[in-house]
Amino acid sequence: NMEAALRQDLQNGNGLYVVYQPQYNQDKYIVGAEALVRWDSSVYGMVPPVQFIPIAEESGLIDALGMLVVKQVLRDICALDGLFERSHLQHVSINLSIKQLTDPNLASRLLAEFQEQNIAPNKVRFEFTESAFLDNALDPKTMFSEMSEIGFTFSLDDFGTGFSSLSYLKDLPISELKIDKSFVDGIPENESDTTICSATISMAQKLGLELVAEGVETQAQFDWLAAQGCDLLQGYLMSKPIEFNIFIGLL
Ligand code: C2E
Ligand code: MG
Ligand code: MG
Repeated sequence: NMEAALRQDLQNGNGLYVVYQPQYNQDKYIVGAEALVRWDSSVYGMVPPVQFIPIAEESGLIDALGMLVVKQVLRDICALDGLFERSHLQHVSINLSIKQLTDPNLASRLLAEFQEQNIAPNKVRFEFTESAFLDNALDPKTMFSEMSEIGFTFSLDDFGTGFSSLSYLKDLPISELKIDKSFVDGIPENESDTTICSATISMAQKLGLELVAEGVETQAQFDWLAAQGCDLLQGYLMSKPIEFNIFIGLL
């Protein structure tokens, strides 16, 4: 039933929209933003992404949903002249389901959208999760290199929660790591969490990757992560995901 409702809302362009969660540098400038999809269903009300994204992935609706998000982000970016030039904003991140990478035409379809809106591919960074590779035999390397040749950059989301993450770092063109909230939660009291976080930060630095801590909820977490050299911080302490016009106000 939920799949049918989602299909209908996607077809009619109802109830699906994008919110933005700012990413801050240590000086508290907004330098990035993560686009997060929202579904306000006429049948179910607000449905959380963790509930409807898997349904979209299983039913093949993820392609249409993913494209809707990309188009909305590009429209938002376009609506404000000089958005990047007049602020510290460097890129907007979009979550990409690994199911979308099974489309051999993905890179060219995305490029067409960017060209239509006249936006440079490096203004958008695509986040994907390592665990998403596990349940399918797809070799993502070709798609990743095709997309990075175009100028798209990638971020490995929820780092540390899946498997073989280190081989992805070696084999795929990745610019950024996001430490999962579950490790940030334990800062500063939990010794395993702080050890994992500081090791991840120093690994990212040595590999020349940017590092984002997600789920930063307390000042103590912010201060600890900043002292360890974490580049970017995202979480409810600074801002929840918000609508674009509110984001622009903060920016
Ligand atoms: P994610 O990509 O890891 O996104 C981070 C999630 O953590 C978001 O949940 C965000 O609202 C939440 N979050 C951020 N800071 C805090 C904090 O300080 N405390 C707490 N408790 N939570 C925080 P959201 O928006 O519900 O999204 C959940 C997941 O759904 C995302 O995890 C992502 O995997 C997926 N998702 C969201 N939008 C899209 C999309 O457009 N496409 C795809 N394929 N997946 C999406
Ligand atoms: Mg994400
Ligand atoms: Mg994440």
